[in-house]
Amino acid sequence: MIDIPANLAHVRQRIALAAIKAGRSPAETSLLAVSKQQSLTAIRQVLDAGQRDFGENYLQEALPKIQSLGGENIVWHFIGPLQSNKTRAIAEHFSWVHSVDRAKIAQRLSRQRPENLGSLNVCLQVNIDEEDTKSGIPVAQALPLAQLVNTLPNIRLRGLMAIPRRRQDNSDAFQKMSALFRQMGASGEFVCWDTLSLGMSADLESAIAAGSTLVRVGTDIFGRRKNSG
Ligand SMILES: *Cc1c(COP(=O)(O)O)cnc(C)c1O
Repeated sequence: MIDIPANLAHVRQRIALAAIKAGRSPAETSLLAVSKQQSLTAIRQVLDAGQRDFGENYLQEALPKIQSLGGENIVWHFIGPLQSNKTRAIAEHFSWVHSVDRAKIAQRLSRQRPENLGSLNVCLQVNIDEEDTKSGIPVAQALPLAQLVNTLPNIRLRGLMAIPRRRQDNSDAFQKMSALFRQMGASGEFVCWDTLSLGMSADLESAIAAGSTLVRVGTDIFGRRKNSG
């Protein structure tokens, strides 16, 4: 049997230890529980253990969960690939989007964001390994896209996100992301620039060592997904 509360406690402990080892405060890195392909029952167990931020990759799968858990105080993050025909529902149901990589998508999200919900928090996804198959902007386009997104009225630009290529050790990719994040923040032109969304179950330690402020963890909280992806 999977003991979800114990798994969650263990992940939190790993985050704290990694932070201390890196000379950072454990409070500088928050935890996003990635609940894609997980049941409502499992999500409720994570909620009951005090977790508030949840991430989903697929709109169709997320909407019924968001509706069922509507009475709960959950902050929903969209972390999957974005299509134009999905932006309205995403703008209406999520507080954060981590995977913005095109101006057109950002403009639609801003236009479609309901006024009563306040600004939508956005990270730009960077294709740090410049893989053909991966979503995300090349490093060189991060600053120009950020400057454009920063002008949109209903978007609050928060920082950067990346999913490095699967390999033994992601430290170099994470360090590259961290350098880009600091360099872009140094100008002071982005006023809420505070989020570096890096690290998953297998590599959260090296992400935190590089400066991650938010790790996205699915498997090590919920157990393996049915269609592991
Ligand atoms: C699935 C997913 C995760 C979680 O991955 P685990 O290895 O299960 O922790 C994190 N980020 C994104 C973007 C994902 O799609």
